[in-house]
Amino acid sequence: STDDPAVAEVAERISCIRHKIVILSGKGGVGKSTFTAQLAHVLAQNENKQIGIMDVDICGPSIPVMMGLDGHQVVHQSASGWSPVLSENNVSVMSIGFMLDGPDAAVIWRGPKKTGMIKKFLCEVDWGDLDYLLIDTPPGTSDEHLAIVQYFKEAHIDGAVVITTPQEISLVDVRKEINFCKKIGINILGVVENMSSFVCPKCRKSSEIFHASTGGASVMCKEMNVPFLGSLPFDPKLAQCSDEGQVFISSHPESPAVASLQQIVLS
Ligand code: ADP
Repeated sequence: STDDPAVAEVAERISCIRHKIVILSGKGGVGKSTFTAQLAHVLAQNENKQIGIMDVDICGPSIPVMMGLDGHQVVHQSASGWSPVLSENNVSVMSIGFMLDGPDAAVIWRGPKKTGMIKKFLCEVDWGDLDYLLIDTPPGTSDEHLAIVQYFKEAHIDGAVVITTPQEISLVDVRKEINFCKKIGINILGVVENMSSFVCPKCRKSSEIFHASTGGASVMCKEMNVPFLGSLPFDPKLAQCSDEGQVFISSHPESPAVASLQQIVLS
């Protein structure tokens, strides 16, 4: 409720964070965490901004691996709170993954415990001065999203970026996600279509991997009156960099996917 003292505490605690962006998807596996990690690098590297990632995908935290911070099982505690872990490009990262007993440990928590952890990530983490805090969420609309909405009541969220693939099965859930945001008053910054195409490394021909029976994300955006931010091709090197925690934009600057990422950030 609005009487929760944590709401004012969060607003106070993160008052030095200029922009807060939530990254959403309807389904899992569409590239939400991949996009979050790469967006952080693009912003940190090109625009020289201070970036933080708050990974609230409590049951499936993939940000530590993607940011090259896997195996970091300790979060340093100082007088001013928990210190986020710094990745390459100085991105500040906080994730439940840092607190588990290893990569295979399962988190079996009910809603209140997840909400409690998110509150801790907001009230007890010393985020410091950030230009952008990117919040990576689980797919769908669940406890984690409601907790974010609740705790950010007084700390303004700039909006949500929604990730999807061109498939209708993913778009169906994205429409729900967009309606959820409209209902709870989160601004939609736009939709990114991931894995739109694949350029064959041998013949250089671009193929659409998924058949977009309803015209894909751009058509859906027009129908739902939300901005379309652009599309990101499928690139096996991006998948490999994500698995290995490498900075894709630095290791493969020649990839068309890097140009797409830059374009999306500009829009
Ligand atoms: P989500 O966060 O939506 O569950 P992930 O970001 O974990 O999805 O991505 C799922 C898998 O797909 C990961 O193995 C990731 O490396 C891969 N992947 C995502 N986007 C791309 C892309 N554009 N090109 C190649 N692989 C990708």
